[in-house]
This record gives sequence, C-alpha cells and structure tokens, in this order.
Amino acid sequence: MTKTTFASLPLAAPIQRALAERDYHAPTPIQAQSIPLLLKGRDLLGCAQTGTGKTAAFSLPILHAFHADPKPLRPRQTRTLVLTPTRELAMQVGKSFSDYGSHLRFRHALVYGGVGQQPQVKALRQGVDVLVACPGRLLDLVNQGHLDLSGVEFFVLDEVDRMLDMGFVNDVKKIVALIPRKRQSLFF
Ligand code: AMP
Repeated sequence: MTKTTFASLPLAAPIQRALAERDYHAPTPIQAQSIPLLLKGRDLLGCAQTGTGKTAAFSLPILHAFHADPKPLRPRQTRTLVLTPTRELAMQVGKSFSDYGSHLRFRHALVYGGVGQQPQVKALRQGVDVLVACPGRLLDLVNQGHLDLSGVEFFVLDEVDRMLDMGFVNDVKKIVALIPRKRQSLFF
C-alpha cells in the first residue's frame, strides 16, 4: 500500500501550507483514517493515545470547514466546542488550532476554571469559531448568559475517558443537552 501524504488529502491550501511549514508530510495512522471521514461530515469515535496526532486529526477537518464554509461570528456563540478535562490540554488544543490555522482567519477562545472569568467573558462577547473549554467553567458561563451553545456545529470530546474518570459525567451530559442534535460529533 502506498503511504498517504497530506497533499493527497483534500484539505484546503492554507492548511496544507501550515502543515508543510511545520514539516508534516505524512499523516499519522489516526489522521489518515479519520480525516477523510470527518471531511465527509461523518461522526467519529477515535481511540488513540496521547502523542499519536489526534489533535490534528480533529482540528484539520474543522479548520477546513471554516475555509470551505465561512460564517459570520454570532455574539456569545461558537461553531465548534472542544471539551477537555484540564486547562493544560485546553491550552495545547488551542495552540494546535492556531498553528494549523495560521493562514486562515478564525477566532478561538479558551475557557477554564481557576482564573478570573472576565477575560473569558470578553473573548466570547463577539463570538468565536472555536471554543476549547473545561466543563465546569463552561457551564458557569452558560448559566450566567455569557455563552449560548445553540450554534455548535462541531462537537469534540477530547480525552473523554479522563473526563469521566475526573467525575465530569453530569457536566458533560448537561452540555450535550444544550448543543443542537444536528452536529458533527468527534469523540477521542
Ligand atoms: P497529539 O497526539 O495531537 O498531541 O500530537 C503529538 C505531537 O505530534 C504534536 O507535537 C504534534 O505537533 C505532532 N504531530 C501530529 N501530527 C503529526 C504529523 N502528521 N507529522 C509530524 N508530527 C505530527
């Protein structure tokens, strides 16, 4: 079997350029398997350990959708919700979106607890394309009316096993109930 290259995947040119600049040539196995399905709009349950490239596996198809189907921001809304168990992971995922999307125009914000909420509220005010969030603070902001999840098109649960281990199951259920049924779901 010939090895898949990023160039053979139908990802938009600005994404291909960002990957080339980072010296990414071949997708990892999880990327090669999931990116073509996600580009077709399918849901996905992916199992892969940390360090296998799962962040690019979900972020590249989402960035591609921003390029192929750009939409204006809506106040206090987000097109993409990525839930992560920890602040550290949220920051890593946010950085990956910035890196892989360095040649695209999109806005992202991070939401996690243990810090003041005002900068997060401000970042959400005009709306974002990607919100990377830990469950507890996310629900606080929703309950206070600073965030509306009714426009979510892409829903990613990252490290869902760890999230459940950490006791976030009820928070995750509440969040799922707030996002539209018609969405693309990506669970890792
Ligand atoms: P992740 O599993 O998403 O945390 O990614 C682990 C590391 O692999 C990160 O430092 C990525 O920058 C890097 N990486 C992900 N995909 C590729 C790829 N296709 N080629 C080279 N490096 C990659």
